[in-house]
Amino acid sequence: MLKLTAASVRIGAVATSKEDAIRQVGQVLVQAGNIQPAYIESMLAREKLANTFLGNGIAIPHGKPEDRDLIRETGIAVLQVPAGTPWNDGETAHLIVGIAARSDEHIDVLRRLTRVLGDAALVAKLRQTRDPADIVEALTGERPAPPAPPATDYEHAVPVTIQNPTGLHARPAAAFVETAKRFQSAIRVRYGETVADGKSLLSLLQLGVSAGATVTISAQGPDAAAALAALQALVASGMGEEPVEPETAHRPQLAYRDWTPQHVAATINGIGAAEGLAIGPIRHYRRAPLVITDNPSDRMSEAAALENALAAARSELELVAGEVSRRLGSSRAAIFRAHAELLADPALVRETVSRIFDGHSAAWAWQQTIAARVAQLEKLDDPVLAGRAVDLSDVGQRVLRHLLGLGEMPFISLAEPALLVADDLTPSDTATLDPDSVLGLCTALGGPTSHTAIIARSLGLPAIVAAGEAVLDIEDGTPAILDGFHGQLYLRPSAADVETARALRAGLDQAQAVAFATRHQPAITRDGVQIEVAANVNRVADAARAIENGADGVGLMRTEFLFIERESAPDEEEQYEAYRTMVETMAGRPLIIRTLDIGGDKEVPYLNIPREDNSFLGIRGLRLCLRRPDLFEPQLRAIYRAARHGPLKIMFPMVATLEEVQQAKAIAERIRAELNAPPVEIGIMVEVPSAAMLADVLAAEVDFFSIGTNDLTQYVLAMDRLHPELARQADSLHPAVLRTIARTVEGAASAGRWVGVCGGIASDPLGAAILVGLGVHELSVSIPSVATIKAHLRGLSVADLRELARRALACRSAAEVRAL
Ligand code: PEP
Ligand code: MG
Repeated sequence: MLKLTAASVRIGAVATSKEDAIRQVGQVLVQAGNIQPAYIESMLAREKLANTFLGNGIAIPHGKPEDRDLIRETGIAVLQVPAGTPWNDGETAHLIVGIAARSDEHIDVLRRLTRVLGDAALVAKLRQTRDPADIVEALTGERPAPPAPPATDYEHAVPVTIQNPTGLHARPAAAFVETAKRFQSAIRVRYGETVADGKSLLSLLQLGVSAGATVTISAQGPDAAAALAALQALVASGMGEEPVEPETAHRPQLAYRDWTPQHVAATINGIGAAEGLAIGPIRHYRRAPLVITDNPSDRMSEAAALENALAAARSELELVAGEVSRRLGSSRAAIFRAHAELLADPALVRETVSRIFDGHSAAWAWQQTIAARVAQLEKLDDPVLAGRAVDLSDVGQRVLRHLLGLGEMPFISLAEPALLVADDLTPSDTATLDPDSVLGLCTALGGPTSHTAIIARSLGLPAIVAAGEAVLDIEDGTPAILDGFHGQLYLRPSAADVETARALRAGLDQAQAVAFATRHQPAITRDGVQIEVAANVNRVADAARAIENGADGVGLMRTEFLFIERESAPDEEEQYEAYRTMVETMAGRPLIIRTLDIGGDKEVPYLNIPREDNSFLGIRGLRLCLRRPDLFEPQLRAIYRAARHGPLKIMFPMVATLEEVQQAKAIAERIRAELNAPPVEIGIMVEVPSAAMLADVLAAEVDFFSIGTNDLTQYVLAMDRLHPELARQADSLHPAVLRTIARTVEGAASAGRWVGVCGGIASDPLGAAILVGLGVHELSVSIPSVATIKAHLRGLSVADLRELARRALACRSAAEVRAL
């Protein structure tokens, strides 16, 4: 929210022209310390490019975006010209609101202004008032959001363990907020170092609390004790979901390896998105796409349309929640309450209103706002945030339907238990599915991180995604087996195959239990070779989860997650605290901290990194850090300071050339020397083909390699890792990728260096086996995969795996490798 004080409001001014008015309001901004005088010229220049007259006598002059560095401190000023000043043809301005905004804080004021604009009586009053406070109130009438509480608990506090299978995600968090709001007391929830307001859904979701984690709830106020008791009971009851013991929350993916049915009419290949076998007839589900055109009427009507659609969506959500609650129980209904909370996010409205002011229709503006937000969240490799993206997109559609005059979202109903086939699914779709009637899901679109995949995993339904358009043509009612492990849909299987599938399902449960029970034991192969199985973590608190789940160490800490989803970069001190906490949590176990890998798919809006046409080939990772000492150096200082508290290693991402490594090492060494910090091992990610080709050269420079197969695959195959259609082909087990890995291992061996793999393929049992066969020493996998991969490796011998790898390298396609 922008600050506007009475001192920045000029009452009773006289202005002879638009330029005169802009200069006067600019002068007020200068005096208030908001801008340098040169910004006034920018405001005048901007006015020549775009008219800032909103209507009803209000204009909002502001400078050009590229001149933002002339802004000292974001702020606004108001010039009241009771007699009016000519603006453009036929327009007369009475209230000139000068805006100096470094980012988009002014959108709050714009939103406010839409209300003022629509209220003729209020505008008339503001033109004539002698009291600056009237204007301040009209423009800033909303109370600013309460500041984030400091990372301490209130006096009354209780620790609780979150047992929900997917952590504190939208639905349980909404239930928490609902209960918290029943009490007068202020409520906080602390997860590690981070504190959230217990009455704000977004704040709670940003904690990223995962299953099995312990958080502290604290309260302050007249009913603090009662609030804590209620919230404690709510958490224990699963917050509207079935609580799951941590043991059973882990669903290792080992099974069905060697199974294919013997007699089927046809097989459809997709990507396995949620493990398991389901058996039943096919049922199609189709939802018509929404068509949005940008045909705006005037701004006022578009703003009003937005307001009405939001209100309609809210009441629809209430009705649906009631209906779902009656049909399927209150836990299923909670998703809709969570959606209603998301709609209450003022930033969404602000951004949309800003687009409407830029001259777009409400439907277009809303769709763009949602799409941008969703894209940003989806790109983050974090299931909690990805879940928010799904929910946001879903609730966005609901509002959009109202904006397009299509009314409420229809329900899905299946008459009998079946395998649901669709092009794609949303959370609303699945929340309205009857779990007794839907046995498994298969979608034509999507990748392993798509909505359907996430939802299916959270519901424990076997699922296939990216099965292709052909799946939409299967005749309704066709009997089938859905194999979520291999990503295959078998049509018209024989009775014997159906029986085998049922038996396999029973065996899986047992294997999972064994893997989890032995997770803390090392992964020693049958021929006595120990493979280090570490975990990839994105947040400080994940380090403890990694250990709880059996990880031998952390093979990749993605530090960019410290920078994401906030307003400004964490400073050296904050980063130091984070890294030190991790070092202490790891208690001597290996910890590899990767320096910032921003750019490409990982955007951080406040860093103002210029957009690139081809961001994956642009300034990302180490390239960015070498150009931005303001980011790189505080991070290195923080890491070296943390190194005093225990062992850690530094790793540079996105290395393409020898010079980059040498420069980065020189900077690191200078900083180490300045701090008189202990030397630490330095490694690089090998994820660019040039680095793999130069492995022998680079190995002489560093202590270790970790292969990032996610990026390596996209660069070797020239397939964007986020591309919706290419996701299927961008397979890290492609022999071209495997040969690149083999070359990297050879190069490293020539200088006596070890090699790990931290890309997604290490979490796949076949991938892990081939990687070990190729000579990889360490696998850094997703936390839930640790137990599974360890158990899998214990059953294998390195001698056999070398042979497997040799055969894989000789394959001609990814399909041939997978067939091994
Ligand atoms: C990779 O590219 O494989 C990797 C582990 O890094 P990220 O996924 O963070 O780009
Ligand atoms: Mg990478």
